[in-house]
Amino acid sequence: MLIWLKPNVKCFCASDIDSIISAELPDKNLHPQLYETVNQFMIHGPCGCINPKSPCMRENICSKNFPKPYKSETIFDTNGFAVYKRREDEEKFVIKNGVKVDNRFVVPYNAELLLKYNAHINVESCCQSMLIKYLFKYVNKGSDRARLIFQENLNDEILAYLNCRHISPYEAVWRLFQYFIHHREPSVERLPVHLPLEQNVVFTADQSLQSIINQKAFENTMLTSWFALNKNFPNARELTYAQIPTKFLYDVKKKTWKPRKYKASIGRIAYVHPAFGELYYLRMLLNFKKGAISFEDLKTVNGVVHSSYHSACKSLGLLGDDKKWIEALSSAAHIASSAQLRQLFVTIILFCDVANPQNLFDSHWQNMYDDILYKLRKTFAIPDMIVPEHELKNSVLFELELLFNNASTSLKKYHLPMPNAEKMLEIQNRFLREELNYDCEELYKKHALLKSQLNQGQKTCL
Ligand SMILES: [Zn+2]
Repeated sequence: MLIWLKPNVKCFCASDIDSIISAELPDKNLHPQLYETVNQFMIHGPCGCINPKSPCMRENICSKNFPKPYKSETIFDTNGFAVYKRREDEEKFVIKNGVKVDNRFVVPYNAELLLKYNAHINVESCCQSMLIKYLFKYVNKGSDRARLIFQENLNDEILAYLNCRHISPYEAVWRLFQYFIHHREPSVERLPVHLPLEQNVVFTADQSLQSIINQKAFENTMLTSWFALNKNFPNARELTYAQIPTKFLYDVKKKTWKPRKYKASIGRIAYVHPAFGELYYLRMLLNFKKGAISFEDLKTVNGVVHSSYHSACKSLGLLGDDKKWIEALSSAAHIASSAQLRQLFVTIILFCDVANPQNLFDSHWQNMYDDILYKLRKTFAIPDMIVPEHELKNSVLFELELLFNNASTSLKKYHLPMPNAEKMLEIQNRFLREELNYDCEELYKKHALLKSQLNQGQKTCL
């Protein structure tokens, strides 16, 4: 359960955390009942070298990273995570499974909750910036993958169980009480963007072309109704397309915007990939121009109607110095994962005529290593492992070089730095492995078969 505290009770410093969460054994004489409860519910393991067979052990290391190191006081590490106070005290210990364990094995808890519910309740302070990333980026990570098999024997209970959906007791209770599963405020209005006459049109399979064309409803979209709104409402002209939902409401049936009476909502223009060309520039103008009354008007700058949205952007000074590409990566950084950002970076470099790739890399590489850092920490089982900046940069370059290689090119060609020699060797080894992995016999057979299927013209070419 994730609980957001009100600003006046938020944990800003170590002593705030200490007042809510403890990761130490309580004083046996002062708090005998709490001591008993912690002993009963909040001691991890024991595991590690004391008990290598504990279920938490993976390759001789505790997967939950116990025993934790001693800490004389609660601190925040460089990533903003709280590291709880666990003082070394020979007097304080409990006996678990015949082994003496101390503060290093205490699972963080809240004394009041523990005493009230008399059950295992792990309470921890969460790092806010990580959470925001997790909560709001996770939903954008792409679709989940499912693995499925076809089988004849349907009586395999284990397989049937594995394919079921799992609902934990907490979620079951939450749903039984019919609490809200999800709530978002203020509401966000997604604003479509399209080039003239290129809006999406929905029709049924049996509809005739004439009736589709006659359908009035297709004439207006949110964007074209915005143009109409600007003609009729002078106060709408003060706003950009994205700002319109703060003051106006879209009537889906009538396909018109009208003044809003109740709560405002936030407008967000649909994402457009930079490789889309004119549509991308049209979107850029929408973020800039207020009160446009037509597509034509949108590309009018100082009374001059430009031939393309691109040239209108240019004359407004929105382009140049790779500004648009920096902007494209910055806006994608809000919603995209690091791996997606690396892919986008490579696409931009390959197809978008960037004047200074190095500058683009310098201003964005720090958004591209979340997953790399996560994997490194997981591999070494050190959750707060600090990886020096130059190594992270090197790893980002390594991943980028692999993407460039997939497109038969290299960082070098775009005057970007290469990963260091060690990493390059890894790439070469990988290529070598791939080259050596061919099944020559199989390929020979395939070649013979395909060759026999060539038609006369193809054989002549051969
Ligand atoms: Zn363990």
